[in-house]
Amino acid sequence: MTNDQNVLLLPQMTEVWQETLNWQPAPEQQQLFQKLYEGILSGNRQLNLTRITAPEEFWEKHLWDSLVGLAPIWQSITPGQRIIDIGTGAGFPGLPVAIAFPNTAITLLDSTRKKITFLQTLIPQLEINNVTTLVGRAEAIGQKQQHRHSYDIALVRAVSAPSVCAEYALPLLKQGGLAILYRGHWTDEETEALQPAVKKLGGRIESVEKFTTPLSDSVRHCLFLKVLSPTVAKFPRAVGLPAQDPLN
Ligand code: SAM
Repeated sequence: MTNDQNVLLLPQMTEVWQETLNWQPAPEQQQLFQKLYEGILSGNRQLNLTRITAPEEFWEKHLWDSLVGLAPIWQSITPGQRIIDIGTGAGFPGLPVAIAFPNTAITLLDSTRKKITFLQTLIPQLEINNVTTLVGRAEAIGQKQQHRHSYDIALVRAVSAPSVCAEYALPLLKQGGLAILYRGHWTDEETEALQPAVKKLGGRIESVEKFTTPLSDSVRHCLFLKVLSPTVAKFPRAVGLPAQDPLN
């Protein structure tokens, strides 16, 4: 499955989507993924958005990887659910999720204004209407009334250490909401070490799911953190503090 043009060969990936996610994109969703790919390649000429630009690698590491985090809860995602992608960068995992779940409301949050400015030009090109963008630090946004305790799902990929990601995500979630932390290698010891921080934030580690990437055969883990009771007001701490002094 290789090609040297900027074509994602999405129809050929149909079987892999089906086997791994029990889902296949409709033709219009395939077109949107292709447009997203082209938009990222074009943005990459001005901004350093991603090193992953070859079509197969882009498909696996940006599209498949973004969606596999939702695989365990795929069937329970309902129209109108609010999903926030914290530290979205060039829009991952949030944009593939927005394409796969057009009836949900996705917020893409990043502290780097130029990344959000790029996304604000990309989203109208995709002609999707379920995405909004937000510039800011997760620590500050998590203390704002209009965002605190107001999302059903928070996605966090490649942003910081696990307990830092938990401190960014849990205050933004409603009671019963779910944070999904995308990680690479993961051990039981790391699960143990993360428990106290998640508890302080009002949550519980619901599960740790292991995935194997379908083309390069590498291991991914997604942590599912559930909010049992709304996070207390002192979290998230001031901007910079979670990363300087991670909860433990
Ligand atoms: N999630 C994307 C992905 O997986 O491709 C981007 C990952 S990139 C390595 C990390 C992003 O997180 C950067 O765009 C950075 O600006 C953002 N970020 C880091 N700390 C943040 C914070 N406290 N609040 C909001 N965004 C943050």
